[in-house]
Amino acid sequence: MFSYRHAFHAGSHADILKHLTLIHLVEYLQEKPVALTMVDTHAGAGVYSLEDGFAAVSKEAEGGIYRLLKFKDAGNPIPESVQTYLDCIKAENVGGDLKTYPGSPFILARLLRPQDRLKLFELHPKEIDILRHNIGELKQSKQIDIYAEDSFSRLKGLLPPPSRRGLVLIDPSYEDKQDYRYLELAIEEALQRFATGCYAVWYPILSRRESIALPDRMKKICAAHQRSWLHTELRVENAPGERRLQASGMFIINPPWTLEKHLADALPTLTKALGIDGGAQFLLKSFEA
Ligand code: SAM
Repeated sequence: MFSYRHAFHAGSHADILKHLTLIHLVEYLQEKPVALTMVDTHAGAGVYSLEDGFAAVSKEAEGGIYRLLKFKDAGNPIPESVQTYLDCIKAENVGGDLKTYPGSPFILARLLRPQDRLKLFELHPKEIDILRHNIGELKQSKQIDIYAEDSFSRLKGLLPPPSRRGLVLIDPSYEDKQDYRYLELAIEEALQRFATGCYAVWYPILSRRESIALPDRMKKICAAHQRSWLHTELRVENAPGERRLQASGMFIINPPWTLEKHLADALPTLTKALGIDGGAQFLLKSFEA
């Protein structure tokens, strides 16, 4: 526990899928003026330098955000769905090259309207200090609460939000195999208290049993609660062994009706831009309850 630092993965293909989806969810939920409460159950440090530190060691952004930008610079067409995501990332790098990558807390913080609130959970003793410092620098910081607590057990305490309009991003590190079980329990409890909330779960696609089973487990929970869902995956390579993460997925409970089209527009471009071998592919499925 606590060996995971998200800086190693900042700007990776998995971050691109997660953050592109997240931005669309917020934009849809903000179409109405009613206050939106956003919860990021696994926040990380908030924002990352791509020039030094862990991100510069792992170079995962080379296969992610930098690869996507090179694809664009080569003159390839970029759909609006992908451009919206790129604009958000670029906004963190005013007037220059991409040196900084915003994590989900910064992406969400920058999208806050005056009536919205953001709740961030982070357990790592070093990450929480960095997160507090980073968030403290933002003009939106007064709208943001930070909890150094276990989000799996604490999430239900924040639900339902006062305005009954809420978005929950659940993005564990899955460092501990138990995270898969804790995730299910947290979703079950959350749906009991706030059935109409929008829940976005990110997960790594690995050969481990729990990872393979995750989408079907989520579908079962949705069936039991009569909830609609959307399931998407992005694979950038299909090579033997698991030296690095080759694919990841998002499972959205109560997705907005616009999300499927948004992802259908984005995923062929992401697959082409980020694909490393012939195994690159995407999946997009949904079910309306
Ligand atoms: N959501 C971030 C983003 O997209 O930029 C990345 C988060 S990273 C995948 C997961 C984070 O969750 C790690 O920083 C880890 O320390 C933290 N974490 C792990 N278990 C936790 C728990 N039970 N409650 C809160 N945070 C936890």
